Amino acid sequence: MALLCHKTPSQSKENLLWNNPARLDIGTPMQNTSRLMADPKTGELMEKIVSLCKRRGFIFQSSEVYGGLNGFWDYGPLGAELKRNIKERWWRSMTQLRDDVVGLDASIIMHPRIWEASGHTSTFSDLMVDCLLTKKRFRADQVDPQTGTAYFFTGATDAAAAKESRDPFSVLVPRGKPPESARKIAKQFYQQRGLENPSLLGERAEPVENSTRYNPENGSLLTEPRPFNLMLKTYVGPVESADNVSYLRPETAQAIFVQFKNVLEVSRQRVPFGICQVGKAFRNEINPRNFTFRSREFEQMELEFFIRPDEVVQKLTGSVAALSDSQPPTLDPQPGWGWELWHKYWVEQRIQWYESIGLGRDTLVEYWQKKEELAHYAKATVDILYKFPFGTQELEGIAARGDFDLTQHQKFSGKSMEYFDEEAKAKYVPHVIEPSAGVDRLALALICNAYCEDEAPDEKGKMESRVVMKFHPRIAPIKVAVFPLLKNKPELVKKAREVRELLRPHLTVFYDEAGAIGRRYRRQDEAGTPFGVTIDFETLGEQGPALKDTVTLRDRDSMKQERVKLGDLVPLLTEKLR
Ligand code: ATP
Repeated sequence: MALLCHKTPSQSKENLLWNNPARLDIGTPMQNTSRLMADPKTGELMEKIVSLCKRRGFIFQSSEVYGGLNGFWDYGPLGAELKRNIKERWWRSMTQLRDDVVGLDASIIMHPRIWEASGHTSTFSDLMVDCLLTKKRFRADQVDPQTGTAYFFTGATDAAAAKESRDPFSVLVPRGKPPESARKIAKQFYQQRGLENPSLLGERAEPVENSTRYNPENGSLLTEPRPFNLMLKTYVGPVESADNVSYLRPETAQAIFVQFKNVLEVSRQRVPFGICQVGKAFRNEINPRNFTFRSREFEQMELEFFIRPDEVVQKLTGSVAALSDSQPPTLDPQPGWGWELWHKYWVEQRIQWYESIGLGRDTLVEYWQKKEELAHYAKATVDILYKFPFGTQELEGIAARGDFDLTQHQKFSGKSMEYFDEEAKAKYVPHVIEPSAGVDRLALALICNAYCEDEAPDEKGKMESRVVMKFHPRIAPIKVAVFPLLKNKPELVKKAREVRELLRPHLTVFYDEAGAIGRRYRRQDEAGTPFGVTIDFETLGEQGPALKDTVTLRDRDSMKQERVKLGDLVPLLTEKLR
């Protein structure tokens, strides 16, 4: 993808930001481990990307002037446009270009019973552990396995102060390190328990292989893993009591299930049909990391596509179409499709959508979850992964969830979620296929995918390196930049402003008259603007009538320039962006 120069990465602020955000937390310190540190090449690339995001106004650290808040990010002018483009394209392809999907825009805070019904109150948690010495917090599955010698102590005494602690403790030290280093850590532990001058008791040593029970930074024993609910709590109303606890939604999907009946009634849809929603979701992630990849506040784009249970399809059409590899999944939906074909259909639809905004199939991985990885209600789940510089990771999950969600809400609310299928003359709770994508992860994938370094000629034709964001024109934050060749020629400036007004109703335009034209191109290359229009003396007719009212259209990627009539500009550009 990119032509990179391989310098040793410096530990700049941006580098620390993307892979070691722990220092930005407020409250209980949370720490990630060395396993999260990327190899130098990845570190270097991510450092450049994070730095460009800040420099050009794609993404800023939230609350930066106060030192930041870990897991929260703000999108600057270019980032805000990029996100809008992603959401608008998703919305358009999901609803406006289809007859069988409608939209919803639900509230973020909903009745807390919803989260009991969905299982989030009781099971939406990660296991966490704390260092017994420093109290630093880790996600249990992210602690690096350690090998060495563990020193166990049964307690300690402080004879002078006539004090004693019977709290057992242990320390792991790498092989070959003297026991003294373990004793030093153990003494600190007992000092924290009020023994100023502790003498250690009951020392015993044992070899340990690949244990995740110790803090990789200091060897101290960690607490037993315990679940940590990821939902962010708040109180609704003036009284902060248990009765008023509510949650910032951890996903947008549940609102769709609880509004299923209302939407059904007003939209005149029939199963199979879908309801989709784009909106904020919140998760109190133990270790936000990899820049915006794992945040505590993010946006989701979710579709719940309701289908007939297979028994109803069988009854209606005589058989359920079999899933075979030869079956083209892009086929128009058929009445004989059961959940398997609908599921495969949506996986294919979603991959095609990613392709349409510039993420080629070679950058994606279709990961079919193994049986033992599936949630208890899921019949199948496919994760669409993107090859991020820091690893191949999930962009979207597409789950066949059966009738779990509607049935749960029927049970908890006491309201029927059944649907009467006139064609099949059957009443049932519809099953669901759920493609669920993250806007922020996709924005990050598109930014990583677009980042490129190559060479371009400067003013004098000498080659110099350039950074260019090769966004697909469909999602590029700015579509076209308009430049008068010279700022100090009022006729050029006037004409360029006219061209800006000509384009503005159709496209996002950026007008720039400051600096040498090469510099202006370079600035737009970094912003990922696919087209540049330059107004020069030919445009004014100074080189004869043939070139009057023509402009130079520059392509960002090939850097080729062509002469285009002003009258052709709008249709030509809008066609390229369709
Ligand atoms: P992960 O396994 O990475 O935590 P998940 O499987 O829990 O993700 P889902 O609950 O399926 O994620 O959410 C659907 C989508 O929402 C994900 O594919 C991802 O794009 C996005 N998403 C989930 N959690 C986060 C997060 N903490 N930060 C940013 N995006 C997220």
